Amino acid sequence: MEANVLMEEMSWVDIEEAIKNGKTTVIVVSGSIEQHGPHLPTGTDMFLGYDVAQRAARQFGKALVAPVIRPCLSEHHMGFAGSLTLSWETYNDVLFDYCESLSNCGFTDIVLASSHGGNTAVMTAVTPDIARKLYGKVNIHLVDYLSLCFEDEIAYLNDLGIARGKAGVHAGYGETSEMLVAKPHLVKMEFAEKGLDEESFYDPQRIPRSQIESFIHGIAYFSENGILGDPRGANEEVGEKLLNMAASAFAEAISDCVD
Ligand SMILES: [Zn+2]
Repeated sequence: MEANVLMEEMSWVDIEEAIKNGKTTVIVVSGSIEQHGPHLPTGTDMFLGYDVAQRAARQFGKALVAPVIRPCLSEHHMGFAGSLTLSWETYNDVLFDYCESLSNCGFTDIVLASSHGGNTAVMTAVTPDIARKLYGKVNIHLVDYLSLCFEDEIAYLNDLGIARGKAGVHAGYGETSEMLVAKPHLVKMEFAEKGLDEESFYDPQRIPRSQIESFIHGIAYFSENGILGDPRGANEEVGEKLLNMAASAFAEAISDCVD
């Protein structure tokens, strides 16, 4: 059996031993607790962040995975029951406290990543300051694996006849397929229904405006059921491939930035 890499399932003795034996990098994923349509659990981004980080840590070989930060930045989903959000200031403080604690554990390198697109801009903005404050104690790295694998995943789905609008960016075909692998018992395919699947929504020129509008009015402004995409027909085979594509892109990026 492969050694566990999830810190919250390990004892302090196991963690100390793993660091001594060369697992000196730790992956910190920012997830979310937010609505994911009527068919997926609110913890979807957290579960998928764990899954991808675990695969990437095993592929890289010298990393453990810190507890995924569960509620992060989900202001645009607050119109739906069960969504939790942190303020930007609190999120910054949580990231800093995670990094300082992990530095104290003896890790030499911390890789910050996000499994929820809504965190990316703030995480990217605050990371240089966190790195400066901990300079000399620990190296902080930033890997945006969602962006690194996005075009390849879209091309793969396109070859299967799945358009970008159906694949979606939130609780659509792609994310639902991944959840059928990561947490199949929590997926209710009988409630999977079409959300916003217009191709024009993904026009790069329109995205910045859509993001602002989603923060002003909430996601329900675009999609009443909270889905951006169309999850119908989602399946495990596609999910396994997408998770591996994300994990490989993630592991390669970690290898590039950690000595
Ligand atoms: Zn999600």
